[in-house]
Amino acid sequence: MSNVPTLFIPGPVSVHPEIMEAMSQPMIGHRTPEFSALYQDVVKGVQSVLQTEKHIYLSTSSATGLMEAAVRNTVKNRCLNLVCGAFSLRWHEITTACGLAADSIGVDWGKAIRPEHVEMALREADYDVVTIVHNETSTGVMNPLREIADTIRQHSDALILVDTVSSMSGVNIPVDDWGLDICLASVQKAWGLPPGFAVMSVSDRAIERSKDQPNKGYYFDFMEFEKYNAREQTPSTPSIPHMYGLQKQAKRIEAEGLTNRFERHRNMAKQTREWAAGHGFQMFSEEPYHSQTLSCIDNNLGIDITELSKRLVAEGYRISNGYGPLKGKTFRIAHMGDRQPEDLQKLLETIDRILPDLHNYN
Ligand code: PLP
Repeated sequence: MSNVPTLFIPGPVSVHPEIMEAMSQPMIGHRTPEFSALYQDVVKGVQSVLQTEKHIYLSTSSATGLMEAAVRNTVKNRCLNLVCGAFSLRWHEITTACGLAADSIGVDWGKAIRPEHVEMALREADYDVVTIVHNETSTGVMNPLREIADTIRQHSDALILVDTVSSMSGVNIPVDDWGLDICLASVQKAWGLPPGFAVMSVSDRAIERSKDQPNKGYYFDFMEFEKYNAREQTPSTPSIPHMYGLQKQAKRIEAEGLTNRFERHRNMAKQTREWAAGHGFQMFSEEPYHSQTLSCIDNNLGIDITELSKRLVAEGYRISNGYGPLKGKTFRIAHMGDRQPEDLQKLLETIDRILPDLHNYN
């Protein structure tokens, strides 16, 4: 299996051997003291990355499960979904699919949601929940989360639900400082683990809201999470290997230092943007809202991205074509998790070698 390409796609990412090793530790029972010790470590690790005292829920699902959980437990009257790409649109679709009343406001793909857009929407109707995707993986836009959250708090009491799926642990998101009610992510992106697990911080306001919420189902009921969190356990049998992996990753993050980790991600994003500019490529994401964990590059030079990807796989690398309608129009290079600047440099140099062979590149 060692001949699979090194992943520069925005999830899943390549997993560090130390994490793989930690994940293969002997199994333990999920209603035992040794499990509670593991649970404590994982919760503390997530709290430390998010700089929060809030409750942390551990979910054996991908992030989509927690996106659904978040709205089902909190939307009573009407939800506002802020849309700037495929994943923020998906949260609107999830909200309405759950039978909850929701409006969406949107900007063109590649643009960021601005506080003034949110203010306008909040003046027009009453919302008890607002959803935001921090780092829109389909467009490479990183929305100004802190400013948006400030605006929401100034103009309403709506709970602030944030998808940080492709930014959590790669970008600074101080949950308590920024007043985020729910902050969720799966672990196959900047956390650098295999897919199949997700984490979420939950505010007291959100827990309170969930108490008499009807029709929230069973698997993702916050009350169940609360009951078991008090025992340092999960409501049902979790993926214990993922918890071992997160325990290890939390230690690795502590050793690297949070600030250094965020800086490494910021620097790799800059390295990629500089490389792109050096070749005459433009960024698809608008200035200055470029993601720090993945770069979505505009194919303004009209290269054959499918051919580039094929050639890269032959060289041992996988990058991403544009998402959905952006296929052929953009390509994405992810630089998150345990990826190092020197790995990225090797990929960029490999692309340099391939580019002149692409018939429409000049
Ligand atoms: N939100 C964002 C921003 C994403 O990038 C993704 C997946 O790529 C999702 C949500 C869905 O996450 P998952 O596949 O873990 O359910």
